[in-house]
Amino acid sequence: MSDLLLRNAVLGSGAPTDVLISGGRIAATGAGLTAPAVEELGGALVLPGFIDGHAHLDKTLWGGPWVPHTAPAGLAAKIHNGRVRRPELGIPSADYVTALLTHMVTLGTTHVRSHVDVDPDVGLGSVHAVREALSRLDGRITAELVAFPQTGMLISPGTEALLEEALKAGVEHIGGIDPAGVDRDPVRHLDIVFALAGKYGVGVDVHLHDRGTLGVFQYDLIIERTRALGLSGRVTISHGYALAGADPATRERLIAALAENGISLASTGPAESLPIRDLAAAGVPVTLGNDGIRDLWSPYGTGDMLERALFQAKNAGFARDEEIQLAVDAVTYWGASVAGLPDYGLTVGSVADLVVVPARNAAEAVMVRPVRDLVVKGGRIVARRGELV
Ligand SMILES: [Zn+2]
Repeated sequence: MSDLLLRNAVLGSGAPTDVLISGGRIAATGAGLTAPAVEELGGALVLPGFIDGHAHLDKTLWGGPWVPHTAPAGLAAKIHNGRVRRPELGIPSADYVTALLTHMVTLGTTHVRSHVDVDPDVGLGSVHAVREALSRLDGRITAELVAFPQTGMLISPGTEALLEEALKAGVEHIGGIDPAGVDRDPVRHLDIVFALAGKYGVGVDVHLHDRGTLGVFQYDLIIERTRALGLSGRVTISHGYALAGADPATRERLIAALAENGISLASTGPAESLPIRDLAAAGVPVTLGNDGIRDLWSPYGTGDMLERALFQAKNAGFARDEEIQLAVDAVTYWGASVAGLPDYGLTVGSVADLVVVPARNAAEAVMVRPVRDLVVKGGRIVARRGELV
């Protein structure tokens, strides 16, 4: 890969400068740099590549037919609907996942954490479909997968063994889903999930929609197991609505415990917004994600992490630039922290995963969400003006 020079780049903030990329990393910044390939950015904003911290790539219908939404309301009904309609629509489809990943790359996403359904009907088919799509993208985007018991684990016989098969096949994280609300036995569910994490040395990412005291109870069970197994930095709670609705004292106690035990959160930036400011102040990273993107769960979703930052900012009542910056941090630095990506960022020596946005600053980028000028992954240009390269 030959060296690349980005000329007149605003690196996050400040005055435009030139950026030399060499060996897949930011090698130098400043005046007087040269390279065989030069991109004139005209003062455009350069951000580190976006991280989608919570997606369900395997479920998508992107690039396929428009499928009118038929799922009834409620979590259990949505789970059932997804399971019974999947075969008729050819889900999981490596073609649909490829189409979605391609779109995400053009929007500046350079890394994604995707939950992939593992259940007795699909087996490891979703893992294989997502891996096939990733191989077709040929390094333009990287991913980490979560073996996800979407249809429950204890209530879905055979799922636990399949989850273990997925981990043996190299899937990076073990997932869980509403240990109480869906699986009806939170202690046993979480004991199995954490035992698998310990046995295979993988991370944990648990979907926790349960609200109220039931949700808070499960936060405590997760905190307890993270501490006991020394899994600081390896555990994520996805959605975690109970924190948003908790009384101030409980919220404060949980945030302190999350910080102390290195537990992160993943969110879609919903109306029930997590207390982003308090979490940031305590050093609890919050990663944002698109969740399902045009699938049997919902017709919504575009894959755009700037749009996700907009949802988070708007739903948290952010208006000042420095507040909107928190939402941008969530789709960049905090997401990288949750994913454990080394050398992420805009400083010399960082891996050159970059997105060039024709905007004057991060707040404007979120409000306008323009076509991305350029996307760079590991020093290689992978998209230009909305098209894959
Ligand atoms: Zn999810």
